[in-house]
Amino acid sequence: MCAQIHDTSHITYEGLLAGNEQFVQDALKLDPQYFEKLANGQKPPILWIGCADSRVPANQITNTAPGEIFVHRNIANMVIHTDMNMLSVLDYAVNVLEVKHVIVTGHYGCGGVIAAMGNQQFGLIDNWLRHIKDVYRLHTDELDAISNEAERASRLVELNVIENVNNLCKTTIVQNAWNNGRNLSVHGWVYSLSSGKITDLKVSHTNNGDLSDVFKLQK
Ligand SMILES: [Zn+2]
Repeated sequence: MCAQIHDTSHITYEGLLAGNEQFVQDALKLDPQYFEKLANGQKPPILWIGCADSRVPANQITNTAPGEIFVHRNIANMVIHTDMNMLSVLDYAVNVLEVKHVIVTGHYGCGGVIAAMGNQQFGLIDNWLRHIKDVYRLHTDELDAISNEAERASRLVELNVIENVNNLCKTTIVQNAWNNGRNLSVHGWVYSLSSGKITDLKVSHTNNGDLSDVFKLQK
């Protein structure tokens, strides 16, 4: 028996604007000053780096509200050291907002990771997926030993999170925060689409001690 996919046939362009009206009304009912307070500024303690997948919305799955998480999303929650978009978000979050935690959240069943495991061409995105193939290459022995393809993909999702956590630790932004005595932790999580639950991979870092010497940067 094949489970049904979530029905989106009722979602329309106009419907989003109607939905916004409803959101405003509901929020004002609970707190008439809700938007005034949000408009005064933000001080989120968390930076979330997640996948662009529509099924992994950062706020909903963590039961948080606007103003509580600073969010960056891209295909397969990648931290690529030449990505100016990601670096700008990270720099602003760490040095201006002074977040305490940066969390890379992957998810099982990630289309980007599954595509990167295969040999089919998808076009421009192949260049992005190359970074995931590099993660595979780093862990070829472990991954090739997993015969079940779905299990191998799940493990690659986890390893991709772990390597992107490491990539965060290698940035000057994170290492300078640590070198300056800042209280900043970097974490790796995985979300399950089928259960809705998040698993902490317990690969957190609070200093650059776990990095290979070549990646350790002086103050
Ligand atoms: Zn994904």
